[in-house]
Amino acid sequence: MKNLFEKKDLEKIINEYKKHNVSIDLAQRIYTSRLIGSNPNLVLHGGGNTSVKSIKKDTDGEEYEIIYVKGSGSDLSNIEPKGFPAVKMKPLKRLMKKKFITDEEMVSFIRKNLMDHTAPNPSVETLVHTIIKEKFVDHTHSNSILEITNRPDGLRLSKQLFGKNFIIIPYVMPGYLLAKKVFDMYKQNNNIHGLILFRHGIFTFADTAKESYDRMIKTVNVAEKFLKNQSKKKTFKIKNKKLAMSASEIAPVLKSYLSLKNDYILNFRSNKNLLSLINKKDIKNSLKKGVVTPDHVIRTKPEPLILNLDKCRNLDEANQILKRKFLIYKNNYIKYFDKNKNKKLQILDTVPQIILIQNMGMFSLGRNLREAIINGDVSEMSINVISKIEEKSNFKSISKKDIFDVEYWSLEQAKLKRSMGEMQGKVVIITGGVGTIGYATAKKFKANGAEVVLIDHNKEMINKINHSSKFKGYVCDVTNRKSFKKVMSNICLTYGGIDILISNAGAAFQHSIANIKDRELKKSFELNFFSHQIVASECVNNILIQKKEGCLLFNISKQSVNPGINFGAYGTPKAALLALCKQYALEYGRHGIRSNGVNADKIESGLLTKEFIIERAKARNVTINTYLKGNLLNKEVMAVDVADAFYNLAMSKKTTAAILTVDGGNIEASFR
Ligand code: ZN
Repeated sequence: MKNLFEKKDLEKIINEYKKHNVSIDLAQRIYTSRLIGSNPNLVLHGGGNTSVKSIKKDTDGEEYEIIYVKGSGSDLSNIEPKGFPAVKMKPLKRLMKKKFITDEEMVSFIRKNLMDHTAPNPSVETLVHTIIKEKFVDHTHSNSILEITNRPDGLRLSKQLFGKNFIIIPYVMPGYLLAKKVFDMYKQNNNIHGLILFRHGIFTFADTAKESYDRMIKTVNVAEKFLKNQSKKKTFKIKNKKLAMSASEIAPVLKSYLSLKNDYILNFRSNKNLLSLINKKDIKNSLKKGVVTPDHVIRTKPEPLILNLDKCRNLDEANQILKRKFLIYKNNYIKYFDKNKNKKLQILDTVPQIILIQNMGMFSLGRNLREAIINGDVSEMSINVISKIEEKSNFKSISKKDIFDVEYWSLEQAKLKRSMGEMQGKVVIITGGVGTIGYATAKKFKANGAEVVLIDHNKEMINKINHSSKFKGYVCDVTNRKSFKKVMSNICLTYGGIDILISNAGAAFQHSIANIKDRELKKSFELNFFSHQIVASECVNNILIQKKEGCLLFNISKQSVNPGINFGAYGTPKAALLALCKQYALEYGRHGIRSNGVNADKIESGLLTKEFIIERAKARNVTINTYLKGNLLNKEVMAVDVADAFYNLAMSKKTTAAILTVDGGNIEASFR
């Protein structure tokens, strides 16, 4: 592992932060924390923690000894000053004199001693950082250290490799108990470079940021060198086979077994290395042994679900296997819970968080896409570590009881309980997604926690969307079923399937009805009617496979009930679309799929451009303002109003075959 410390980079950061009144101590802390955070072999996605001890003046004018510790919710790779809450040290040190306090009491006490009461919770390992006398402390879950400690002879090896400068701390649950253990052992010998936390990770410390970081890299290199020189003892049989079904086909089927209490995003990945590991014949035995470091369990559950569909000739046969395997997984999880629970605990969802399909790849679950990807990254890394151990020795994890205690630890569960909005876990696709109404609707659903996919034929705008990373966008001609099917299969790979369709693509065609060219009228029907049928039918079939409730929402337009002169080419397909909306409600209501529409009017958008508004206002001899407010409420109707209507219909769980009018009031377009 390369030491990336550069004096000039450190000075640059110190000078940069000086302008923002950030102390040299904290600036140094930020620099080496980022070096650590950017190395996935040390920490992954918010894992690990670092600290620095310093002096800070409080509002009372007094100077206090404080410790800046990484706060929860921050990632070391891009951490900023606000990611390091400052806590007064003296009261924390006093805590170590207690015989026992609960972790909840510990967190509450640490919070009481924050310099800024609005700061995030400091790491659960704050007390360990406080105990250490050195100024800078770094903690990682280095893969090589885990490769050494997670084997039967891990203790002996750790002593042999690191014993001189390190204390080897036996496995203790993180939190107050671990702090207490470290306190007791460190008291007897504090002339050291760090701690090896058995089957958990490593701490290094020193009086400068550089030296603490150097010690981390140096120690990891000792481990890496040892591992490199150790020859492989075992080779594993790998069976490669081409499966009869694709990952995008199996994804919605898998989802049908996951929709219990919560909605999940199901993300797929596959690569050569991952396949070479999961295709091993006895991979199950290795991976069911447990986790490589305790805090992985909230990302991966105690073990993944491993499936082999090699012999299945079609999806039906695969489904039979899935049914059985998911049931076994569930029963085993309940058994594990019952064995280790105490009275207060409630069982979590009994579904796996990681699903490995041999000869296919990995599916990872999350409450949103980001979480699903993080869970997948953590699992992929841990499969790598476990496989490397198994090649040379035997993988040995902490006990199932210890894994359980961390999985059901209130401090870990608190991370999962934060709601991401009422649309958490829902996948929404919006056609005509980059238009004014489509985009306003996307923002509304995203703000409430949904994963939003925008579909549009506007390549330039979709590219822009994909760069901004707020939404995922696909270029697609929705009048072409093949083109839409391709997008759907990509959606299945990324999200597992869809929940809500907002069929919004459309364009106005103007001509007197007796003189319009057939070609023009057909073109309008292609976009304003058939495209809706293409996307709705594909989405309904996807939702049916997922065995979930779903919702279709159509942008219909007031033209469907209140035709305008020369708007026949637009109004007639929209009238048919109204019928289509009802037809879906009629035929799929019994499957829990709702179908509703919005009739909007006079909204400035791609359909109703500024020029067009000026023209219409002129024709009626009124000002633009009067034209736009020409409704019963005398209020201009905006794209966000349509977005609200779509959202409200999506949330109205007992409403189907309904049309919501968003036009400020127009009695001719109202329903009788
Ligand atoms: Zn840790």
